[in-house]
Parts: sequence; structure tokens; C-alpha cells
Amino acid sequence: MTNPETAPFQFFHLRVDRTRRLGPSLVRITFTGGDELKNFAAGGRDQSLSLFLPHPGQEAPVLPPLDEPDMYAILGAWRAMPDDERAVMRSYTVREQRTEPEHSENAVDIDFAIHEDGGPACRWAGRATPGDRVVVLGPAIADNTGVRFRLPEDADSVLIWADETALPAASAILEWLPADTRAQVFLEVPYSGDRTELATRADATVTWLVREEGAPSAVDAVRGVELPGEAPYVWIAGESGAVKALRRHFVRDRELDRRRVTFVGYWRKGLSEDALREVPDETQDDA
Ligand SMILES: Cc1cc2nc3c(=O)[nH]c(=O)nc-3n(C[C@H](O)[C@H](O)[C@H](O)COP(=O)(O)OP(=O)(O)OC[C@H]3O[C@@H](n4cnc5c(N)ncnc54)[C@H](O)[C@@H]3O)c2cc1C
Repeated sequence: MTNPETAPFQFFHLRVDRTRRLGPSLVRITFTGGDELKNFAAGGRDQSLSLFLPHPGQEAPVLPPLDEPDMYAILGAWRAMPDDERAVMRSYTVREQRTEPEHSENAVDIDFAIHEDGGPACRWAGRATPGDRVVVLGPAIADNTGVRFRLPEDADSVLIWADETALPAASAILEWLPADTRAQVFLEVPYSGDRTELATRADATVTWLVREEGAPSAVDAVRGVELPGEAPYVWIAGESGAVKALRRHFVRDRELDRRRVTFVGYWRKGLSEDALREVPDETQDDA
């Protein structure tokens, strides 16, 4: 295992403790682990991790030995293994980390979007049962590079747009936002039943954009919205095409300073995450 004092990420062996359906499109999976989970140090907001999953029929994800101190060497060895044998790797958000007295140990929640185009992670989450084993490459320090939501000190308002894959991140960001921060929040989900309760101390106006109710496109939803204050910060995450369109809207049409906008493509229509890693990130090209 990598030493948490020197590395911002560490490999953790986790087991499914329980699963809970949050709505038609999201399943919450609570993971627990052994002693090493004491080193798991979630920092909130949109902090992501890499999840390594077994293929159907495997009891545990197949990875090279994890006692090598250099995580890049481990990832290189994982890449060199046969595709149909090595663990499936997917990006997910640390929705919450808690200490649960009944387990006398840490618990980590990840919320999985269940989608019709079901890839291996979506299928795994849909049939996960207590005891199932995974490995994550997760935070060993709270403020690692998995956190992309970086509120500038002078920001006087925030605009958030997220689809169902980024709803866990948006929910955690809302929980983290300082009290009274003015926030305009747009949450696009497939079904009416996907609306959830959100906890925040921020002064947030939340607009649910429900696709089955005929929600407008991402850009149409935000087009007329005024960004209050002098120094807004924008965070956008979800399907790459929508993210790219929103990036153009804010940077090119509204001429926002691009350093005050964070755009992250979480998935792209028609491409698995493996395929996505092989192509340029279309959300980051010039607006
Ligand atoms: C930093 C980061 C954080 C993320 N956090 C989360 C999170 O907390 N929860 C979460 O659910 N997802 C999250 N995602 C997105 C998730 O990694 C992708 O949706 C991933 O593609 C799912 O893997 P899969 O094996 O189910 O599908 P893949 O094998 O990757 O893709 C199979 C097919 O499904 C399509 N597809 C993938 N996702 C969706 C979807 N949501 N709806 C419709 N079609 C889809 C693909 O376009 C492809 O055609 C995050 C992504 C990033 C980069």
C-alpha cells in the first residue's frame, strides 16, 4: 500500500455493506473495509476515485500486487493485463464518508446512476449484494487532485449544472458550500422520482430538469439566468456533449473568465469510459 503521508491516493479493499435505491436512476452503495480504511480521507465536494470492479464470474477485482509504493507502476501493470481479466476501472464520486459506531469503522457511500445503455459498472451496481468485493484508488489526503470544485476566495455566487451522474457530486458540493453562498443549481435527471432532498446552508435556488417531463436542453435551461454578484464561479459536470455546449455558452457567449469555470465530462454518449480515455477530452477544447 502507498504511504498516506506521502501519496495523495491510496488503494483500499472495500466490501459492499448495503445498497439502497434512491430513485429510479440512482443506487447508493455503502462500502466498509478493514483497518486500511482508517486512512481514507474524504475532502467532500466532487472528490472522485477510481473504482476497480470484478468481471461477472470473478470473486474479486483482478489487479497486480498493490504493495508496490508507486501507484503509477501499479496502474501500468494493471493496463498490461488482458482486458477480459483485469479489473474494470471506472470513475466515481465519494458521496460521503462516515464513521458508523455499529461497524466501529468507516463507511463510504458511492451513488451509481443506473442507465439503459448499461456498462459493466452500471450492471455491477444493479446486482451488488452485501459482501461483494471491490478495490478503490481513493483519497489518502482530503485535498487531493480528485477535488475539482475550487471555489475562488472572492466568489460571490455559484452556478452548478449536473446530470444524474454528477448529482452525487452536486449534492456533496451543496453540503460543503459556506453558509449563505448564493447558488443557482440545475439538476438534470431522467425521471420525476429522481428528485431528492438536498441539504445545504447555502442560499440555493434549485431547478430540477426532468427529462421525462420535457426538460429544456442544458443551454436553454441556463440561458436566461442572471449570475448575481461581481465574481461568479461556475461548475458543470455530466454528459460531455451537454458540458461542451455549456462551456461554450459561459465562456464564449457570456464571456466569463475561463479560470472561474470548471467543466468536467463524466461520460460521453456512445463511448464506454475505456474508449473515452483513448480520445481527446472534447469538453476542454477551445470554447
Ligand atoms: C470524475 C468523475 C466522477 C464520476 N462520478 C460518478 C458518480 O458518482 N456516479 C455515477 O453514476 N457516475 C459517475 N461518473 C460517470 C461514470 O464514470 C460513467 O457513467 C461511466 O461510463 C459508467 O460506467 P459503465 O461501466 O456503467 O458504462 P461504460 O462501459 O463506461 O459505458 C457503456 C455505455 O453506457 C453509456 N453511459 C455511461 N454512463 C451513462 C449514463 N449515466 N447514462 C446513459 N448512458 C451512459 C456510455 O456512453 C456507453 O455507451 C463519474 C465520472 C467522472 C469522470
